[in-house]
Amino acid sequence: MRGWGYRSFRPLQREAAEAALAGRDSLVVLPTGGGKSLCYQLPAALGRGLVLVVSPLIALMDDQVAAAREAGLKADALHSNLEADHRGEACRRLISGETELLYVSPERLLAGDLVEDIAPRLVLAAVDEAHCVSHWGHDFRPEYRRLAEVFGRFPKAARMALTATATPGVQDDISAQLCLRDPLVLVGHPDRPNLVYRAFPRRDQAGQVLDVVRRHPGRGGIVYAQTRKDVERLAAGLASAGVSCAAYHAGLPAAERRRVQEGFVGERLDVVVATIAFGMGIDRPDVRFVVHANTPRSVEHYQQESGRAGRDGEPAECVLLFAASDLAGHRWLARKDADLAPERERALDRQLREIGRYAVAPVCRHRLLAEHFGALYSDPAVGAAAPEGGCGACDVCLGETRDLPPGEVLLTAKKILSAAWRAEGRYGTGYVVRLLSGKADERLTRNGHDKLQVFGILKEAGEAALCSWVDQLIVQGFLDVDEGEYPLLRITEAGKALCRDEGSVRLGAVVPRAPRKKRAGTFVKAAAAADPDEELFERLRRLRRLVAERTGVPPYVVFHDTALSEMAALKPRTPDELRSVKGVGDRKLDRYGPAFLRVIAGESPESAA
Ligand code: ADP
Ligand code: ZN
Repeated sequence: MRGWGYRSFRPLQREAAEAALAGRDSLVVLPTGGGKSLCYQLPAALGRGLVLVVSPLIALMDDQVAAAREAGLKADALHSNLEADHRGEACRRLISGETELLYVSPERLLAGDLVEDIAPRLVLAAVDEAHCVSHWGHDFRPEYRRLAEVFGRFPKAARMALTATATPGVQDDISAQLCLRDPLVLVGHPDRPNLVYRAFPRRDQAGQVLDVVRRHPGRGGIVYAQTRKDVERLAAGLASAGVSCAAYHAGLPAAERRRVQEGFVGERLDVVVATIAFGMGIDRPDVRFVVHANTPRSVEHYQQESGRAGRDGEPAECVLLFAASDLAGHRWLARKDADLAPERERALDRQLREIGRYAVAPVCRHRLLAEHFGALYSDPAVGAAAPEGGCGACDVCLGETRDLPPGEVLLTAKKILSAAWRAEGRYGTGYVVRLLSGKADERLTRNGHDKLQVFGILKEAGEAALCSWVDQLIVQGFLDVDEGEYPLLRITEAGKALCRDEGSVRLGAVVPRAPRKKRAGTFVKAAAAADPDEELFERLRRLRRLVAERTGVPPYVVFHDTALSEMAALKPRTPDELRSVKGVGDRKLDRYGPAFLRVIAGESPESAA
């Protein structure tokens, strides 16, 4: 694997590449950062013919091509956004048989005119983001449904479908829709051990977001929010706190969106606050945190979006700020846009329940995610069953979120449920919380509810805890929120049963403040032999940015953080020593080695570049 500078295969990479070389179809499910590109790049590097990669991410293609070329591959891309002269060049190389790896958008392939040039030399047709072919997944793309037609015209080429997130149902659907022929199914473990997951009740959105951003000063991160207004407000808040950041959403002019995207990838911008429109085209591997300021639509969406953190394998943090009102919002939006068929409606309800459960259940979040995708959670280091004392990498296992003491759980739940019961489903969460905390406003007094027994019955808990408990009871099905102009809180049959001591309930205690500084942020450094020299690391980053600007590629195409961090630890002095750093292939050594060695030897990045 000289061209890449890797020392060994990651799980399932070898199996996938070998299947392709043997002409066998395969379905590859590897988590983000698992190294899917190598599965099809390696067959392309062996010179037996052309490898085609269908990808919906046009914005990403040029960077993918640049990265493949850095590894020594003859790679090109064809899509509608290409300038004419680039397109001409790429077509010429394709026809002359030089091209080893060709990225195409589905639209471009479906246009049909490429088929004749591709067919004779094609050994592998790979489909990236293959979940887009399935209605059951997220990001459904109608064009993907027609890919099998085109593939029918390359009967001899192997097919490879790749995706990061697919439940067993979605996997079956992918196989069927792409007409995979007796595919080798390779499903990697979905867990991302380098990510620390945290989910907290949302109380002070802007403040909680700022807390996370402050744990990673000067580093790349993404903040997702629901609406354009939220995005603008949060971005303004961060900017006024001195954070290098920008807003990104579909309502901005294309030029501004491009500026933000390029600024982020080029490391001139640290934080992007965005709606989910941002991210599909972002391949920056050193994103150190992803914060969801609102609850995402499903666990699949969450896995996909939070998965953009830490693709380089270094520690990174994913934080979700949860409020049950977000779920009602998603339901409302889905209904507004379309008349949902009953089965879609049920699927939507299930998805919302699952993401809600993920966010509020005081259970190890690595475990919940693994189980959602049909895997058992085990200690990745030893391969043993669930690690003693938890994963050490989520708010629950780190002790930041705790269960209420057993003696208090049922009693607390019953008090809240009785208040909702007494309010007869005619009031919202805010009203019930005021009732429980004994804060009489005019409406409450007018209704005589300040005379109820439940008035002020949970005064000491505080409103933040009460709101969170109400959310937790909603997610567990004991309370329900009626939709409509004003969401009304209602007790369910299960809730009434719980009041008669039938059933069981869990409530997480609300710990006053976000995680202590020392535990959070950048955790134990990877198992490098020595500690990286922080000051040198920052100088190497600066050099990387300068080199990237000069050569017109994103910084990560030059070197990854992992490589820089290893350089900063080992301080190589000769090209040979530098060659032993992971991620330094022959080509990169030639092109960039001298400048990096000079900076390691003490020269300033500005003069070495
Ligand atoms: P995915 O598409 O699955 O998210 P990529 O193919 O982009 O993952 O790879 C993620 C990162 O892992 C890349 O930066 C890549 O350079 C690195 N990588 C891939 N395979 C290996 C390997 N065998 N050894 C070390 N690093 C690898
Ligand atoms: Zn855990």
